[in-house]
Amino acid sequence: MPPAQCPDCWTTLTGATGASQARPGSLSVCVYCGCLMKFMPDYSLERLSKAEFAALPQDIRERLLEAQRAFRAARDSKTHPTKDKAATKALARLLYPRLFPGSK
Ligand SMILES: [Zn+2]
Repeated sequence: MPPAQCPDCWTTLTGATGASQARPGSLSVCVYCGCLMKFMPDYSLERLSKAEFAALPQDIRERLLEAQRAFRAARDSKTHPTKDKAATKALARLLYPRLFPGSK
């Protein structure tokens, strides 16, 4: 898939941020700004709407928010998300296959 851009901070997100496992409809969180996103059929990223977020199962919502908090904390402490322990852990939980319903 082509690299996708965060719709919020415009950072180009690569496979290192989980995009390589993505399918249209997969959810993602920007590791740089914590934006909650979903992949579109052309693999661009769009912000997850409030209604879409509310419709998700609770454990997935919690995982998304945990990642969002961790990535924002890393950003605020000016630590790169891949160097921040809490952010790395949150990302690993986020990449758990259940979050990517379209992937095998
Ligand atoms: Zn972003």
